[in-house]
Amino acid sequence: MRRQVHSKEVKAAALKRLADRGVTIEDIAEVVYLMQAPYHVGLKIESCIESVNAVLEKREIQHALLVGTELDILAEKGMLSEPLQSIVANDEGLFGCDETLALGSVFGYGSIAVTTFGHLDKQKVGIIKRLDTKRGNGIHTFLDDLVASIAASASSRMAHRLRDEEEAEREKNMNLDPENNDQQAG
Ligand code: MG
Repeated sequence: MRRQVHSKEVKAAALKRLADRGVTIEDIAEVVYLMQAPYHVGLKIESCIESVNAVLEKREIQHALLVGTELDILAEKGMLSEPLQSIVANDEGLFGCDETLALGSVFGYGSIAVTTFGHLDKQKVGIIKRLDTKRGNGIHTFLDDLVASIAASASSRMAHRLRDEEEAEREKNMNLDPENNDQQAG
């Protein structure tokens, strides 16, 4: 009989995989912070952590993480067939499947996610830079792009949330303003 995998099992496996491959939620939140701090005065790292956790709830992202890191791990063990083994192990610049897989999971978060992903793909920052396969600390050909996509999605999600909060706050203040109430009454 075919086994239907429960989403709890997928989520737990994806989070474990991230941790096993040396990436913490805080590492990704740090990238989100760097991307969004210029736009939000007093941005807190806690908001970034919350956003990363929310993005990691998405099944599509969990699946991409499992697929990409599986290929990284198999390449580390020399278990892929040639020429894929060499392409993944060398992080061949023209390969592109690593970026495509990662890019596929940012679309749900809109244009800020897409442009931030493009930026992070070029200007590798924080954990994304530390994961560079060419630095000789394991094979992370897929993982660096996946981390960039999680950070990009979390950045976009947060940008929209913060705007909603600002607007709600402004509306609340307007309703409390007696002058404004007078005008409405008049
Ligand atoms: Mg890559």
